[in-house]
Amino acid sequence: MSGGLVTAAYIVAAILFICSLAGLSKHETSKQGNTFGISGMAIALIATIFGPDSGNVAWILLAMVIGGAIGIRLAKKVEMTEMPELVAILHSFVGLAAVLVGINSYIDHAPGLPDVMENIHLSEVFIGIFIGAVTFTGSLVAFGKLCGKISSRPLMLPHRHKLNLLALIVSFLLLLWFVNTDSTGAQVFALLVMIVIALAFGWHLVASIGGADMPVVVSMLNSYSGWAAAAAGFMLSNDLLIVTGALVGSSGAILSYIMCKAMNRSFISVIAGGFGTDTRIDSTSEEVGEHREITAEETAEVLKASSSVIITPGYGMAVAQAQYPVAEITDKLRARGINVRFGIHPVAGRLPGHMNVLLAEAKVPYDVVLEMDEINDDFSDTDTVLVIGANDTVNPAALEDPHSPIAGMPVLEVWKAQNVIVFKRSMNTGYAGVQNPLFFKDNTQMLFGDAKASVEGILKAL
Ligand code: NDP
Repeated sequence: MSGGLVTAAYIVAAILFICSLAGLSKHETSKQGNTFGISGMAIALIATIFGPDSGNVAWILLAMVIGGAIGIRLAKKVEMTEMPELVAILHSFVGLAAVLVGINSYIDHAPGLPDVMENIHLSEVFIGIFIGAVTFTGSLVAFGKLCGKISSRPLMLPHRHKLNLLALIVSFLLLLWFVNTDSTGAQVFALLVMIVIALAFGWHLVASIGGADMPVVVSMLNSYSGWAAAAAGFMLSNDLLIVTGALVGSSGAILSYIMCKAMNRSFISVIAGGFGTDTRIDSTSEEVGEHREITAEETAEVLKASSSVIITPGYGMAVAQAQYPVAEITDKLRARGINVRFGIHPVAGRLPGHMNVLLAEAKVPYDVVLEMDEINDDFSDTDTVLVIGANDTVNPAALEDPHSPIAGMPVLEVWKAQNVIVFKRSMNTGYAGVQNPLFFKDNTQMLFGDAKASVEGILKAL
């Protein structure tokens, strides 16, 4: 393939990626968006592999077959509830790739560049490796927190913000030294010290963020992985990688910003590892009163006597795969003339839009699925709320306890309804690890058991 043809293919691929992002921003066009993305990536791969800069095509194809086989196996095996972990670990690979590309680019670069070009090249290498290393360990911690291998509580090292600042300042000084010294030994030393600092910095940055802020962290790491890819694009002189990396980086940053706004969090505070937050982690996870229990049959009676019902699903509905019987209950109650709607919190579940995807899968009509802002004022006029596997997103402590790790986060104000029925298996806390005073309110009753079994029990009794 000639250089000109490769450039043309790259432009087409870049346009397809932009169309893909536009398509993915709406429910109705998301499938089309996926098709654009896949086509763009196929064109990009073909142009890169058969372009003039590629060496041994056989090795590339072999690597692709092995990587593709592992990818297909993993994608088939992974449950919907494990998607965020998968995304986090994939981000860590992008980070690691940027580090390796950077090291390779440093070892392999052509000597004899003019001074300015040499300085730009060295800066690219240094910054690319720094971003990659931060993304690598940050994503590993996010993976650990999302799959429960690492506690979701924030790590509160003494002087943690000063440590972060120190890491940034020392890395900057190392960059100046790396670019200005003529000694190869000094350069290698500066690079190695920076890599150690960046790995520790990425680890600490994500470890210091509490469970409730993890959605922002996931999208922020998505953004970092984009910038890491763009940095790798500069080092490899690959324009499409720069464009694609910048698209991922900026769309991830915009998503992080939107999520911060939805959760009433400061964007700067979250990306700086919780800087400026006044969060105590001694917030209790012990029970704070007496709770009342209800059976599936009694719940069916309460529902029959209601004229308005709101269902607020959360992560537990995804775990139990209860969306199908929930959709059936919705149909049955609506057939009886009861007004049934859904209230979706922006961070319910473990992925942005997680609940919307599950409900769409179960064919719940879009028009009864409302966002938190659209439904929050209606709870006080509602007879019954079914909280199905949600916990942090319906926790009144977010509004009532200024020291709670979830303080300030807007929540679904379900306790304002006449009856609240909470579906879960135990009195365990939610993802943020804080107890939920909702469970002990006078109008709340607990329906213990797997959410799917409980909903099926209600269906039978209806
Ligand atoms: P939570 O994670 O707070 O709580 C889920 C509840 O579901 C648990 O209390 C659990 O209680 C219950 N549960 C689990 N399995 C079952 C089951 N099989 N049947 C019935 N109940 C079950 O859920 P929310 O959706 O309210 O909140 C999401 C949390 O995740 C927030 O803190 C958010 O910040 C965080 N997060 C969100 C991301 C996103 O992008 N949406 C990404 C990363 C984190 P029990 O064990 O007693 O059954």
